[in-house]
Amino acid sequence: QEDRVFNFAAGPANLPEKVLLKAQSELYNWRGSGMGVMEMSHRGKEFKSIIEKAESDLRALLNIPQEYSVLFLQGGATTQFAAVPLNLCTPNDPVDYIVTGSWGDKAFKEAQKFCNPQVIWSGKAEKYTKIPNFDALEQNPDAKYLHICANETIHGVEFKEYPSAKNSTGILVADMSSNFCSKPVDVTRFGVIYAGAQKNVGPSGVTIVIVRKDLLGNAQDKTPVMLDYKIHDENNSLYNTPPCYCIYMCGLVFEYLLELGGLNEVEKMNRKKAELLYNVIDGSNGFYKCPVEKSVRSFMNVPFTLEKSDLEAEFVKEAAKEKMVQLKGHRSVGGMRASIYNAMPLAGVEKLVAFMKDFQAKHA
Ligand code: PMP
Repeated sequence: QEDRVFNFAAGPANLPEKVLLKAQSELYNWRGSGMGVMEMSHRGKEFKSIIEKAESDLRALLNIPQEYSVLFLQGGATTQFAAVPLNLCTPNDPVDYIVTGSWGDKAFKEAQKFCNPQVIWSGKAEKYTKIPNFDALEQNPDAKYLHICANETIHGVEFKEYPSAKNSTGILVADMSSNFCSKPVDVTRFGVIYAGAQKNVGPSGVTIVIVRKDLLGNAQDKTPVMLDYKIHDENNSLYNTPPCYCIYMCGLVFEYLLELGGLNEVEKMNRKKAELLYNVIDGSNGFYKCPVEKSVRSFMNVPFTLEKSDLEAEFVKEAAKEKMVQLKGHRSVGGMRASIYNAMPLAGVEKLVAFMKDFQAKHA
């Protein structure tokens, strides 16, 4: 649409136009109920139907088995950095963290308050551009879980396959905040998956937790009620007032992703967009550079730098003039970053790629 920009923000990020328009049409009067979703009681039949459909559509999308509970919580993925150890282990238990970027590092640091975590691999010395070789990992056999960040939003490093937790519990935990529902995932490989919604599936304010039910009920005594998975499971995410409108928006997105043909189709589209962008970077004779090892480059967050780094500010400014916004890299790494989540249309990436070629021709 004429008056919209192509928004390459890392999150909150763009939402599908169709979803926004549907929400707009229902804002004032949701399906003849005479009220909007923001005004509804979370215990009323209208909202009950909304949250139940959101859950069942998410289950269909990710093929989530009944042995897993789906929770719609608050506090962002950051709250899960604490909730995971509080629910899965005692204060003395060892747990393993693979740190492939700054989000994995934050998760590890928070876990230090609630258990005894160890970093068994860190990509920091190589500026977070790699994923480890799984066979070479030295996992602690006594660890209660192994934690990964499936996609590092800032560094653009993505697990393409997942390690197995070689410990007494076999529990793998993943922060999927920035690649949630961007491709199919075998949920049964994981004990817990968590994700803030605001990149691929909705607005900020709701965090989705998928947890294997046999892991419920072991929270540490001091665990706040709001962080106890069992409480939320028993109450179908309605122990207290949930982020109702955010859950509604996620529901619209899930419905939309199913209409597109599900996550196999979504992955194809995402792969195509990412390849387009990486090909231009790699084919630029070094004018553009992406530091991440090719085999683990993220399909969601594409970081790149300019060989002539003094042109970076101009790149961002000129792109904004052409309605491509939020291309500045994270303050901790500099350069540029194009986040191309599910809702970024192919046309947006095509336009960016054309702009990049043009910019290079002007400045090479
Ligand atoms: N994990 C990852 C991978 C993220 O990208 C983010 C947010 N950018 C977070 C955790 C923190 O999420 P929140 O801001 O929802 O707490």
